[in-house]
Amino acid sequence: MSSTEKTNLESLSSCLATMGPKENEDGDGGDEETSEAATFSSETMVQAQKAKRDQGLYEAEVSFGGEADLHRQIIGCTKNPGHKDFLPFSSLTIDHFPDGYKDEKLLEAVQAWGELVVRIAVDYTSPDRPEFYPDSTDPYPFHQHGGSSMTRYGTGWAAACTKDDGLDVMVFDGDVPCPCEDCEKSGRPATSWGCIVIMTAMHVVFDTSEVERTSVKFFYHDDEDQENTVTLKGKSIKHSDLEMDSDHSEFLAVTHDFEFFEKIRLRSAEANHLIKVAGENYETEETGGLAIVVSHPHGCCKQVTFGRMLERDSLERSERFAYVYSTATCPGSSGGWVWPVGMGVQGRWWYHMAAHSQGLMDRTNMSTGHWIF
Ligand SMILES: [Zn+2]
Ligand SMILES: [Zn+2]
Repeated sequence: MSSTEKTNLESLSSCLATMGPKENEDGDGGDEETSEAATFSSETMVQAQKAKRDQGLYEAEVSFGGEADLHRQIIGCTKNPGHKDFLPFSSLTIDHFPDGYKDEKLLEAVQAWGELVVRIAVDYTSPDRPEFYPDSTDPYPFHQHGGSSMTRYGTGWAAACTKDDGLDVMVFDGDVPCPCEDCEKSGRPATSWGCIVIMTAMHVVFDTSEVERTSVKFFYHDDEDQENTVTLKGKSIKHSDLEMDSDHSEFLAVTHDFEFFEKIRLRSAEANHLIKVAGENYETEETGGLAIVVSHPHGCCKQVTFGRMLERDSLERSERFAYVYSTATCPGSSGGWVWPVGMGVQGRWWYHMAAHSQGLMDRTNMSTGHWIF
């Protein structure tokens, strides 16, 4: 058995372990309660299957049964049964990179960006999601769930901003109380706090009404050991534009923990630098190069997948490219970090990355419009 196969099995068994007898953990339930819990769970999974089908090709995960159902859904996955192409992010080494790309600089860049990748959970769907895309008969994902409290899971990645970045709104120091959940509960809110920008796909987080019901989980690298995870609450949408065809969304999450804020800010600056250093050796206009995805498939712990960049399509309205790749994704990967290595503006150190958006009928996968870094 290769080390890759072994790690995948370990990851899956970690999910299996997590799904254990949670409903009954207080120890006072008998067989009857267990079977009731199982029935309830299967009903919620049927509901989730239906809601997922309603989104068409988009790849958000849905749960009506909380996180316990996510661990069941990963095992019942029909897109990538066994998830053999998925690697736990924390076990990534140079050996996992395909031939021609076993390069320490690539590894460092993926580790830096991957650390900024977050699991997103949204437990509300905006009634303002339209029935169709503008000037189109293409249905807009989750329109029919508008106003409901179904939980949608996806992925995103973080960039911290400060006044130094010319974005004054990002750090508040003074009169405005911190709107985070802890401060709201405490009755003595912090008066210094900051915002972290989260990039994701618009079909995952549509507008401010959804951001306000969004939680963002950092450092979710293991399903069992979640001691080092940090969860932030969403505050407001920063950018999403239905008129654009790019499926982009950027929103703000808040924290008054400046040690954490500074850690994300520095890691984000470092990641930006590392991708330029690593991308330089692979600059290309050709298809066939490496395409890497870091995401939270099924809303579970962070995974890395490798594949090839197969195609890039011009998006008319937003004048951006959507990338098509063979790299494996699953429901929950929506909004995940996609790096078509070396694609960007030739000779300028400007590289493209994108968020994952759709799983296509031919089993290839497609991103949102690109961002430039
Ligand atoms: Zn799957
Ligand atoms: Zn706070």
